Amino acid sequence: MFDDIRQQCVTMFDSMFPTTLHSWDASSFKHDKMAQFMPIILEVNLTHLLPTALYRLCSVKGSDTVKYLKRRPDLLAQFMDGKLTLGLYWARFVSQGLEDACSPDCCVADWEAVISTAHMKGMESNALQDPLDALRAFKNNFDNFGICVECKNFGRTWISNFRKEIWTQLPQIFQIAEDWEKLKPAK
Ligand SMILES: [Zn+2]
Repeated sequence: MFDDIRQQCVTMFDSMFPTTLHSWDASSFKHDKMAQFMPIILEVNLTHLLPTALYRLCSVKGSDTVKYLKRRPDLLAQFMDGKLTLGLYWARFVSQGLEDACSPDCCVADWEAVISTAHMKGMESNALQDPLDALRAFKNNFDNFGICVECKNFGRTWISNFRKEIWTQLPQIFQIAEDWEKLKPAK
C-alpha cells in the first residue's frame, strides 16, 4: 500500500522535475511553482530530482530558499555554493564561446554587436540564476543580429552545446552526484 503511494508520487514528481534537458525544455509545468515541492522531495528522498529542484530554487527569493531547506543545512550550503557556480556560466559562455567564435574575416563588426549584447544580458539576474532559459532566449533572438547564416548557425550550435554542458553538470554543480547516470533510481 505504502509502496504504491510512493510509486505514484515518484511518477508524478518525475514528470514535474525533468532529469533530461529535452524533457525540461518540453515541460509545460510552471517552473516558478516547482520550488514549493522541495520539502516533499526531501521527505520522500527523491535524490535524483535534487539537481533540477535546486536549479529552480536559484530563481527563488532567499527567504523562501531558507524556508524550504531549513531542515537540511547541508543541502542549503550545497545550494549556495552551486548558485555561485551557476552564476559564472554566462560569463564563460561569452568569453569561452562567443568571443572565440569570431572568425577574423567573417561578420566582424556584427559579431561585436552579438558579444556586446551578450555582455549586457550577463548583467540581468536571469542570466545568472537561470542560464538555461537566458541562453534559450538569446538563441531565439539570433535572427535579429546582422551576422551571416553560417555565423548564425555556428552561434546557435554553440549555445545548444553550452546549454547541454550546463545540464550535464547540474548534479556536480550542486554536489549531489558525479553525473545524472549515478542518480538514476534503482528499479
Ligand atoms: Zn559570417
